Amino acid sequence: MAAIAQEHGQVQIPSCWCCGNTFDGRDLTRLGSQPEVGVCAGCALWLSRRARSEADSGHRTPGARLRRWVVSTRDAVTRAGLQDWPALGPLLRRLDRHLP
Ligand SMILES: [Zn+2]
Repeated sequence: MAAIAQEHGQVQIPSCWCCGNTFDGRDLTRLGSQPEVGVCAGCALWLSRRARSEADSGHRTPGARLRRWVVSTRDAVTRAGLQDWPALGPLLRRLDRHLP
């Protein structure tokens, strides 16, 4: 595909296969067996959470319950629009980086 793009003089800008935003190629995480597929850090984190949530479904361990609570709280905060509040937003983003 890169060869086709070069024949037509087009430059392919690396973009995330999840959100579609463009990035520097070094900022994309590539899939092991499909290296042409890359996702940005934000989408990789989102995919990780989705995969973890799916793996936790049906489990009643304390860790699974804590992660479900964090996810439901995160969703409630986002629905309420609290993530954009000046003081609360940075605090929530900081917690988001460190919580499961
Ligand atoms: Zn993305």
